[in-house]
Amino acid sequence: MTPAWITETWRFIGLVLVALLAGAAFDHTALALFTALLGYLIWHVYNLYRLERWLRDARRFSPPQSDGIWAEVFHHYYRLQKRNRARKRRLASLIREFRESTAAMPDGAVVLGPAWEILWFNSAAARLLSLRVPQDTGQRIANLIRHPVFVKYIVEGDFRDPVQVPSQKEPGKQLSLQLVPYGSSQHLLLVRDVTRLHHLEQLRRDFVANASHELRSPLTVMAGYLDTLLDDEEIRKQLGRPLGEMQNQTDRMRAIVDDLLELSRLENEESEAPSTLVKTGALLNRVCSEAMPLRKAGQTLTLEVAGKHDLLGLEVELYSAFSNLVTNALAYTPEHGSVVVRFESGHDGARVSVKDTGIGIPPEQIPRITERFYRVDKGRARKDGGTGLGLSIVKHALSRHGAYLEIESKPGEGSTFTCMFPSERII
Ligand code: ADP
Repeated sequence: MTPAWITETWRFIGLVLVALLAGAAFDHTALALFTALLGYLIWHVYNLYRLERWLRDARRFSPPQSDGIWAEVFHHYYRLQKRNRARKRRLASLIREFRESTAAMPDGAVVLGPAWEILWFNSAAARLLSLRVPQDTGQRIANLIRHPVFVKYIVEGDFRDPVQVPSQKEPGKQLSLQLVPYGSSQHLLLVRDVTRLHHLEQLRRDFVANASHELRSPLTVMAGYLDTLLDDEEIRKQLGRPLGEMQNQTDRMRAIVDDLLELSRLENEESEAPSTLVKTGALLNRVCSEAMPLRKAGQTLTLEVAGKHDLLGLEVELYSAFSNLVTNALAYTPEHGSVVVRFESGHDGARVSVKDTGIGIPPEQIPRITERFYRVDKGRARKDGGTGLGLSIVKHALSRHGAYLEIESKPGEGSTFTCMFPSERII
């Protein structure tokens, strides 16, 4: 028992004793006891009334003065109230600071509710997305940003990377939009103006495309002259070796320029590849027969078509992807090795895999080999005539078909490159 309760108990006992003594003295014990208990009850009810009045309008009153157990009750309530007020003040200032800092951010921030409705946005978001207060609060974000890329982003629900969309208000402007999930079902939409970055990226692409294009004509002229010189018996006898080497290097440069142009073309195609029917079995057959002459001594190249579907896409791009994989498999597989090209399909999509028994790739290099000009063994790849752009072309061509490349490899045992196509790309 707390001291307050002990005092209160003694007070009650004292009151009853005094009532009993007074009652005995005047020979009215019952009346005296009743009066004392009634007085005690009235005191409690009065204090209850004060407590209720104070709680009802606690802001205006300091706690009522009392004694005994009621003084204790008032004191506890008062302390609790003070603590709550301090906590509320702290939270309010935290929210104010958060709002002030996000309002000062150069990037836009939009808080979205469970139904993708706008709950709050800062001034940068209002400027970048042309949002208005208060009309747009409560509106679904997809009603305000209607670009198909953003709508698909929300539907697919993979928010690891941002998406880029042109601004609806200012056509030349490019915005990067990223959704960040938090809480149970809320999202924060981050909006960034990436016009400058987009412009630089476009400049880089244009530069590569233009430079490659400009290099093409002089290379064709040089190749022509070299062919003519090598056709001459006398010259071939005297300068056969250097001219032959020049011809090899010119061919290599032409291959690089062609691959660079192909890559720029794929990069400049903004949208997805169209969905035209591609007779996949026949296409793979063509890829394999054209690669047959590239086989080394004793190498085998086989095609297994187990898929009953066909792919939907652009035949030239799929041809380029598959033939790059088959050419690589033959190039990085020693003599007497085997290369198996396999096509499988099901309701969940289709797979085109190219499996070889070649030199393999060290695991730590696998994530990097689709980068431009990345080669595991630089000297060897150059000697074998590779441009270093083949897998970049594969990656881009596949991504235009909603597909991706899976690579499994063990050094010394072989590699399997698998193109994974989604179900929307099969028929
Ligand atoms: P390259 O023209 O040099 O072949 P790619 O982009 O096609 O360029 O390939 C990048 C690098 O990946 C190659 O240089 C090679 O080191 C490695 N690579 C690609 N395919 C295979 C394979 N089937 N087996 C082993 N290594 C491979």
